[in-house]
Amino acid sequence: MSDTQFHSGFVAIVGRPNVGKSTLLNHLIGQKISITSRKAQTTRHRVTGIHTDEHSQFVFVDTPGFQTRHRNAMNDALNKSVKTTLGDVDAILFVVEALKFGPADEEVLQLLPKHRPVWLVINKIDKHDKTLLLPFMQQMAERFDFAGIVPVSAEKHIQIEALLDAVRPHLPQGDPMYPEDQITDRSERFLAAEIIREKLFRLLGEELPYSINVEIEKYEQEGDLRRIFAAILVDKANQKAIIIGKGGEKLKRVSSEARVDMEQMFEGRVYLEVWVKVRSGWADDIRFLKQLSGEG
Ligand code: GDP
Ligand code: MG
Repeated sequence: MSDTQFHSGFVAIVGRPNVGKSTLLNHLIGQKISITSRKAQTTRHRVTGIHTDEHSQFVFVDTPGFQTRHRNAMNDALNKSVKTTLGDVDAILFVVEALKFGPADEEVLQLLPKHRPVWLVINKIDKHDKTLLLPFMQQMAERFDFAGIVPVSAEKHIQIEALLDAVRPHLPQGDPMYPEDQITDRSERFLAAEIIREKLFRLLGEELPYSINVEIEKYEQEGDLRRIFAAILVDKANQKAIIIGKGGEKLKRVSSEARVDMEQMFEGRVYLEVWVKVRSGWADDIRFLKQLSGEG
């Protein structure tokens, strides 16, 4: 088998929140996620970013966010859907933070398939003492039959090429699946919701209720101005109060930081309105479940 062949495949990035998955993705694709094609793709996966070089194309796909904090019907359905996605990609990057492996990481590990190559990506090595890294790698190697273990710093762009080099030969041989200049095919609506979610997580961290959802209710475009109306859905009135903050201070920050990011990403002006709605019992909403399991 000669390796002058082109390799092309789907790659999933998984890990508990805050290990650096989004940062890693941005560095793997070489630039901030942006939209270069408005055409919807009809592949079996939702693509979050694409890395194309002389020898290969890595198509990074989304795994619907899984939940570990609470067990309920919706979270079980989400986890099932993650497993289906992971069983269907060509390679998996399981991201952990250097020297940290806790119950939340363990829950993700349990979802990894045995019949797909999984790389352990040990991120944030810039934060820690290098001498402790080797024993950590050895401990991790005992937990799962990884195809490889690659320590990186996503933020400092250390070992990113090495990671691509490690995975590349394991992607199927074949032509690129997407045009070279295409970075993502996610819709702007989806990206807008994702940006708001990210800001909420950054600002509220542990305070943020897990059963939260961001919905784009209206999305209008007029020249280079986008008017985006987003609702944050929570379970309880007290969660609504946490998100809004004293005098509306937290929600204002989420909204203004999200708007700045959207303007940068969409390369145009954005008018953004964000409000919080209480939708009691939504986490076990039957319709939503059916949608997730494809029965809807
Ligand atoms: P995600 O929730 O897994 O997508 O994590 P993010 O990509 O949002 O990163 C979570 C936090 O970790 C952010 O504050 C990042 O700036 C930080 N982070 C990500 N990668 C690194 C890294 O290599 N080194 C350090 N020191 N921090 C990082
Ligand atoms: Mg993220």
